[in-house]
Amino acid sequence: MSIHLQGKTALVTGASKGIGRAIALKLAAAGAQVAVNYHKSEEEAKSVVQAIEQSGGKALLVRADVTKLDQIDKMVEQVEEAFGKIDILVNNAGHMIRRMANAEMSEELYEQVMDLNLKSTVFVCKRVMAGMIARRSGTIINMASVAAHTGGGGGSSVYAASKAAVIAYSKGLAKELAPRGIRVNVVSPGFIGNTDFHATVSTAEGRAKAVAAVPLGRQGEPEDVAGVVLFLASDLAAYLTGETIEINGGSFMR
Ligand code: NAP
Repeated sequence: MSIHLQGKTALVTGASKGIGRAIALKLAAAGAQVAVNYHKSEEEAKSVVQAIEQSGGKALLVRADVTKLDQIDKMVEQVEEAFGKIDILVNNAGHMIRRMANAEMSEELYEQVMDLNLKSTVFVCKRVMAGMIARRSGTIINMASVAAHTGGGGGSSVYAASKAAVIAYSKGLAKELAPRGIRVNVVSPGFIGNTDFHATVSTAEGRAKAVAAVPLGRQGEPEDVAGVVLFLASDLAAYLTGETIEINGGSFMR
């Protein structure tokens, strides 16, 4: 059985690389028209759009810093104009930025991390849900992390807190939007290798240790996360809202 999203439209934030790229490709392969948001990595984002178009799909390149409300507004306006609506929103953009011990925590890093992971999610949801509410239909998938439950590895407590806040926010939003026909869920990855994320914030030793602790015996791939997002975006998940799905090969079980 395969999942079909023909006639559906999606906006994936942070889709220029890593997990977001895999999600954009997966949704497009299922037939959705996909808006590929990026901030700095223009060439990588263009290559995602090209890959979708070469496979016969439809994609839109849309640049926006999702921590800025005016840029969120413009991005959503652009997508709604091109596609007519947004059925599927994936708030994937996020990062730890860098590790910093709590004893050294700066206001600047605190604000960057909270803005990128939580503020972006809250305000992209706010802007996109207006159209979903008007149509009484839509599905939102927000990106957390196993760190939300564990407090994260060294120097990532604020990142962990921002992702825990994404989970709590998504539950509240799910309650608010359920009577209006909109589902809200969260995916929560463990260690997903082959991403710039870990190339930036983790040592080779730390990465090897994380993989060694995975019961399924391998690192996670961006496609592992994308598959779960595809399920949540589809009608197979029609009775699922306010849920967080952990994707970590068994390394953390709630
Ligand atoms: P990644 O490869 O570093 O990609 C991050 C993406 O976020 C890029 O596309 C980047 O776009 C985008 N982004 C960053 N700042 C942005 C901004 N201000 N506005 C718009 N887009 C922005 O990271 P990843 O591993 O794929 O992570 C994706 C998500 O999964 C994040 O929310 C991360 O916290 C979460 N996660 C990852 C892991 C993991 O093991 N990798 C584990 C748990 C959770 P540009 O490059 O174009 O700026």
